[in-house]
Amino acid sequence: MTAPRPRPEVLDISPYIGGESTIPGVNRVLKLSSNEGAFGVPPGAQEAYRRTSEELHRYPDGDATELRRAIGARFRLDPARIVCGAGSDDLIYQLCLAYGGQGRDIIMSAHGFAIYHIAGTYAGSRVIKTPERDLTADVDAMLAAVSPATRLVFLANPNNPTGSMVPYAEVARLRAGLPPEVLLVLDAAYAEYVERPDYDPGIRLVDAADNTVMLRTFSKIFGLGGMRIGWAYAPPAVIDVFNRVRSPFNVSIAAQAAAIAALAEPGWVEKGRAHNAEYRPKLTAGLTAAGIKVWPSEGNFVLADFAVPERANAADAFLRTRGVIARPVGGYGLPHCLRITVGTPEEVEIVIATLTEFMRGG
Ligand SMILES: *Cc1c(COP(=O)(O)O)cnc(C)c1O
Repeated sequence: MTAPRPRPEVLDISPYIGGESTIPGVNRVLKLSSNEGAFGVPPGAQEAYRRTSEELHRYPDGDATELRRAIGARFRLDPARIVCGAGSDDLIYQLCLAYGGQGRDIIMSAHGFAIYHIAGTYAGSRVIKTPERDLTADVDAMLAAVSPATRLVFLANPNNPTGSMVPYAEVARLRAGLPPEVLLVLDAAYAEYVERPDYDPGIRLVDAADNTVMLRTFSKIFGLGGMRIGWAYAPPAVIDVFNRVRSPFNVSIAAQAAAIAALAEPGWVEKGRAHNAEYRPKLTAGLTAAGIKVWPSEGNFVLADFAVPERANAADAFLRTRGVIARPVGGYGLPHCLRITVGTPEEVEIVIATLTEFMRGG
């Protein structure tokens, strides 16, 4: 008998490893493994979510009309150029399946976000990873990898798991150097946290032509990772493609209601941004003082570099004995590093104290 088999490239994919949330035998864990934000769920979103329980027999609005209107109002964008997805991951898959495929290459940087590789391979594309400089995407290396087969270029900006950011002028240079028929996808999952003035999440480049897409998510600063909701701002032709291929009811009633309420939560984003602006430098300074190299980050997390994998693994194990879950990033080719989310003030303090003890040989 012959067993059913997927396309061969499917079995080349390593399953995505998410941040862990439990430690066997430990009751109170500090989960700093998935960059979920330090303040939990916006209260208004919790309330909106509860209210939807009475409507769950209804299909959601497949066009997410009200949510797109709310996003448009918030970011001053035309709702007709917005499409929502079950997390931005969903939209990454749709882009890869629609624009990638056999003989259609995808370019990403060496330590770019893992889903680009998974979704691109699934689509049947060759996914080319280009070298970085100081763990930052290198525009020249990306342009050098372009061939007539290139169809998609993914850039997470800021990038996860490195935290590095590419300034607007460099992103514009990337766009200008790509053939017009190559779709550039700018994934700005951490846009709200960026403080550098030379940053743009991608809106300008989306507006400037018909070959660039910006992705955003409710999973990070908006505190709704569990709801699965993200969105794209894209040219009309790309919106048209999304609406042909996406699952028609990809965003649940509960997710739409929670996201609308999260956008309306007074001061929520400002609070998250201010907290990060204070505690990311504190976390960085504390770890640096302990003797750990910390890479510059524009996200709500830092990449702690222990120089060798053994040391990173030992640090991870030590953190776990204290109930702290960081994120090993060996799957990203960074086995000597741990990614650590900027948590509450107490969590930041515990991480610093624990790793200081570790570095002293504790
Ligand atoms: C967290 C993250 C996302 C968001 O994923 P969702 O599917 O929206 O939860 C997208 N891109 C990057 C780079 C991320 O870190």
